[in-house]
Amino acid sequence: MTFAATILTLYPEMFPGPLGLSLAGRALGEGKWTLDAVNIRDFAIDKHRTVDDTPAGGGAGMVLRVDVLAAAIDSVPRDRPILAMTPRGAPLSQARVRQLAEGPGVTILCGRFEGFDERIFDARGVEEVSIGDYILSGGEMGALVLLDACIRLLPGVMGAASSGVDESFETGLLEYPHYTRPPMWEGRTIPEVLRSGDHARIAAWRKSMAETETRLRRPDLWERHIGARVQSPSGAHAKTKDE
Ligand code: SAH
Repeated sequence: MTFAATILTLYPEMFPGPLGLSLAGRALGEGKWTLDAVNIRDFAIDKHRTVDDTPAGGGAGMVLRVDVLAAAIDSVPRDRPILAMTPRGAPLSQARVRQLAEGPGVTILCGRFEGFDERIFDARGVEEVSIGDYILSGGEMGALVLLDACIRLLPGVMGAASSGVDESFETGLLEYPHYTRPPMWEGRTIPEVLRSGDHARIAAWRKSMAETETRLRRPDLWERHIGARVQSPSGAHAKTKDE
């Protein structure tokens, strides 16, 4: 099944952008996902091709018109979730990314100016997604982030090396630290255990490092991880390939 991405934007030239390179670019070339960047302006109804108007009630900035947005959405097949990038949306998570990657694709609405006319969300069943607690000038970068996260999970995109289950957030923990050659660099060594060849010891070290890093850097994730373990004593985290 091909993952179909449609982006509704005022700047279709921004796509595929970085997603035309590397892993995602190769997968696009191979037809593992498709991209349709649609210009919202094509759905304007007046001769000046207006897409925005002043906010009802006054105030600064411009708001994207609901009728133009609806016409753009209605031009896309309704076989997949419709997402809008908004700072107030649900924070994007690896769990949601995985669900989306397993589905038929996504339609993503990219805001500009002050954002969307509120009526569009309910009228078209739009799911709002945020990529973090900061303000971008438009939703396009957010759409690229979301797509990148989905595409690397599509079957055959990352190759046999990893299905991504070992990655930070997949286990509910941050990842353990990595090292490679040279073994000694500017007086800094690689932990002895990683050179021991003892796979059981290495796995135990990695598990303990993942737990320590998570506890120190992200107490919020750690609390959730501990909570999940209490609920399922068999261990809520997925087995790493070394276990
Ligand atoms: N007035 C809005 C911000 C608009 S920023 C507010 O105060 O909430 C313009 C557009 O950029 C938004 O419509 C949205 O599509 C996008 N955007 C900005 N920050 C974002 C974020 N953190 N996550 C996702 N999209 C964002």
